[in-house]
Amino acid sequence: MTGKAATLLLAPGRDKSLKRRHPWVFSGAVKRVLGDPQTGETVEVRVEGGPVLARAAYSPSSQIRARVWSFDERERIDAAFLRARVERALALRTMLPAARNTNAMRLVHGESDGLPGLIVDRYADVLVAQFLSAGAERWREALLDALVEFSGFETVYERSDAEVRALEGLPLRTGFARGNREARRCPIVEYGLNFRVDVEQGQKTGFFLDQRENRQRIRQLAAERSVLDAFCYTGGFSISALAGGAREVLSLDSSAAALAGARENLAANSLDAARISFEEADVFSHLRTLRDRARRYDLIILDPPKFAPTVAQAKNAARAYKDINLLAFKLLNPGGLLATFSCSGGVSAELFQSIVAGAALDAGADARIIERFGPAPDHPVALAFPEGDYLKGLLLVRA
Ligand code: SAH
Repeated sequence: MTGKAATLLLAPGRDKSLKRRHPWVFSGAVKRVLGDPQTGETVEVRVEGGPVLARAAYSPSSQIRARVWSFDERERIDAAFLRARVERALALRTMLPAARNTNAMRLVHGESDGLPGLIVDRYADVLVAQFLSAGAERWREALLDALVEFSGFETVYERSDAEVRALEGLPLRTGFARGNREARRCPIVEYGLNFRVDVEQGQKTGFFLDQRENRQRIRQLAAERSVLDAFCYTGGFSISALAGGAREVLSLDSSAAALAGARENLAANSLDAARISFEEADVFSHLRTLRDRARRYDLIILDPPKFAPTVAQAKNAARAYKDINLLAFKLLNPGGLLATFSCSGGVSAELFQSIVAGAALDAGADARIIERFGPAPDHPVALAFPEGDYLKGLLLVRA
């Protein structure tokens, strides 16, 4: 097939989602592969006899058989194309108000930035990159060059250690992809609060940047309240609440490493450490313990890990969300606030709200929604890619 691009021929009628500009081609939609494309190679996607609908990265071992780079028939996929996409992604962040309040941001958000499988977070002067698809992996060098060029930072640490790499048939990889420096305590500032991000060993890329604006909101609501921060990780919400004048904060996490990070973050700020305590515990059982001890709080934050990455796990996830939310309602004082989140792609905002409603009902709590939470704006959601809309949350007040 020299000189001719490999092609994915779609089964009849399976071009609908591409026409809506959804960037994934599932294996079941592919009728035939013409040519012999290698992993990550650019293929043309069309129905038999039809025009080219998209150029996409081929991923033979994944259910997501190809991820679209471009829907523009005239566009060539090369280093210059990717360079332009990186430039566009970084330009968006420069424009955001958050850029004036922090030196830590998501610079590239995968599909929603037109760069499927590429995640890049900035922590002070270190970039952390995840190459999570065959296509991103194929163009790794070109993408790294563009990231260094447009960000002006010389250090990129790679955290391609997410499980999804296995689905793409890619080995896990971590380490410095560009530069080399101490990166286990990247000193970031978020709205005047200091955090030390462990880019090498921390969860995901080290910090949960998608919750930045929500931490700020909690800070504004925390004054004089007793706060319970379940799933506290390295203390993002806890320290924000303390800075906002919380009377006392109890922070729970099952990870000793996360709690050690939280204590370091606390020490990095000039705050009253006597008002906060950390406990290594399983939230599911510890909330029951607190209930049995008749403990009550004025502000509870529930920010659990992703219980349902896909819709297939939604049922079990629903049970887990209901359990912790029910217990939280029982632990909430009258007039108290519950900030409850889900980052499960498999659980829609509507489903999440109905789970929380069921939890309140069973807890005998009368509660109302006063705000809805979403991801920070450096985590854009492409309109054609609803899968990118994973983080949802509710702020509830108990009567
Ligand atoms: N709110 C945090 C992010 C939370 S991430 C922030 O803004 O930074 C989810 C956290 O839940 C992780 O730190 C993980 O260690 C913890 N976790 C997962 N399962 C848990 C369980 N069963 N009990 C307690 N913590 C748990």
